[in-house]
Amino acid sequence: MRILVVEDDPNLRRQLVDALRADGYAVDQAADGEEAEYLGEVEPYDAIVLDLGLPIKDGVSVLKHWRAGGLKVPVLILTARDQWSEKVAGFDAGADDYLTKPFQMEELQARIKALIRRAAGHASPIIECGAVRVDTGAATVSVNGQPVNLTGHEYKLLSYLIHHANTIVSRTELTEHIYDQDFDRDSNTIEVFVGRLRKKLGVDVIKTVRGLGYRMEPERESA
Ligand code: CA
Repeated sequence: MRILVVEDDPNLRRQLVDALRADGYAVDQAADGEEAEYLGEVEPYDAIVLDLGLPIKDGVSVLKHWRAGGLKVPVLILTARDQWSEKVAGFDAGADDYLTKPFQMEELQARIKALIRRAAGHASPIIECGAVRVDTGAATVSVNGQPVNLTGHEYKLLSYLIHHANTIVSRTELTEHIYDQDFDRDSNTIEVFVGRLRKKLGVDVIKTVRGLGYRMEPERESA
């Protein structure tokens, strides 16, 4: 999962980026409304944290522009204290959630997780596909009730696939959603990670769809 953090305060921006990276997300950042608007349009994010008070172009205008262009990504806005009218303007512009500054980072992390799973159509933090169970709250994985230890990269990959189970996910899409902007992307490494992930899971839930990518689906009963 890949997140855009838009915040002009460099300290808060760094804290947000660090906290979200620690949660296993690929994170890009922008410090003004113009850069944010551009990144939101050209990069495929799974969620966006958007401060409303921004230089060059304010957050509400940026959000309106994205929504007018059909961008559906969940957006959590950050608003100044006691500015209830800002929250209303933010929701009217298409925000999905908000936090008022100052906020607890843990609350932001929890809200982002919830936004991402709801956007993928999952109401519960536990997402299952056949024998595989991912607890997106605790970032843990089990197969048939047995815990499986995954590296950060393997977890990112599995998390994206299971959020989008039963649909075809191309290598390009995977690459775009598990690496940030600055990462030296090579879609061949995806195949290596998928191979390792299959071996660790030990069940046949990640299918290769020739020429198109991968599809995660429950294993079929063998005849
Ligand atoms: Ca600000």
